[in-house]
Amino acid sequence: MTRVAFIGLGNMGSGMAANQAKAGREVVAFDLSADAMARAKEQGMSGAGSAAEAVKDANIVITMLPAGSHVRDVYDQAILPNAPKDALLLDCSTIDVDSARTVARDASMQGFRAADAPVSGGTAAATGGTLTFMVGCREQDFADMEDALKPMAKAIIRAGDAGAGQAAKICNNMLLGISMIATCEAFVLAERLGLDPQKFFDISSKASGQCWSLTSYCPWPGPVPTAPSNRDYEGGFATAMMLKDLRLAQEAAMSSGADTPLGGGAQALYAELNDRGYGAKDFSFMLQMLRGAVQ
Ligand code: NAD
Repeated sequence: MTRVAFIGLGNMGSGMAANQAKAGREVVAFDLSADAMARAKEQGMSGAGSAAEAVKDANIVITMLPAGSHVRDVYDQAILPNAPKDALLLDCSTIDVDSARTVARDASMQGFRAADAPVSGGTAAATGGTLTFMVGCREQDFADMEDALKPMAKAIIRAGDAGAGQAAKICNNMLLGISMIATCEAFVLAERLGLDPQKFFDISSKASGQCWSLTSYCPWPGPVPTAPSNRDYEGGFATAMMLKDLRLAQEAAMSSGADTPLGGGAQALYAELNDRGYGAKDFSFMLQMLRGAVQ
């Protein structure tokens, strides 16, 4: 039986690990949180006393951790010294490109096959096994990486070599963060000009301003019933999470010398929304800040 070591069983990791178990794989789980460990055991996984213990005898090692520093520590201290050399290593966390490349280089120097495989889709997709994975790995390793990810995925796309998955993720989310603000600004101006927001939606969704933030995730309540704007901006993709991804994008822009002025502006605006205490609200709540409707 395929043995999966799963490290990091938070909001995302718990559902993802459960889907590995549902696919008939033996899952050995580890998280620093006792609550997360208790939940994993309730879902039929076995618990390890440490990350080092979890990866012993694993065929596949998956990490789903908060940030680059956690991933680097767990790789350096637990995974690389203890996992079998033929184990596949996949980091699904959203982290900085430099950490992803460092971890992949260290793993490869020790003879491991490793991939960065960040996800698009929130906790509902993690639980439902419908995440989209953007994978950075060697071409010849991709088929095995794909097989490892399948129980958790709707789509699995190889973006390129090590770090390319993280690069795709932060570029996509920078685009999304900017396009949401642009959509919000257009609604604010439409409202001030006395234009009915629904009329603006009807026209712009069929005109050249059309974009995903408008037609699939409309920040103005009403036109798109499934959007978080219709449930007081609860659920969805938290402002704090968008801010994290925009910070990663700006760090990457700095280190690579890319000019991303709108990305920088978007980061500042989401930081303001977060600082005003709305980090847990969906990122489309930006509309209400730009309208001047919140403190
Ligand atoms: P989370 O904070 O809920 O979970 C992280 C888990 O890692 C926690 O349970 C924590 O105890 C555990 N952890 C931290 N350090 C550890 C260590 N050294 N060893 C073992 N466990 C450790 O975060 P999340 O929402 O599950 O997100 C995880 C990653 O996925 C992040 O990188 C995030 O940016 C990314 N992501 C999240 C979402 C989302 O909607 N939540 C969507 C896409 C991507």
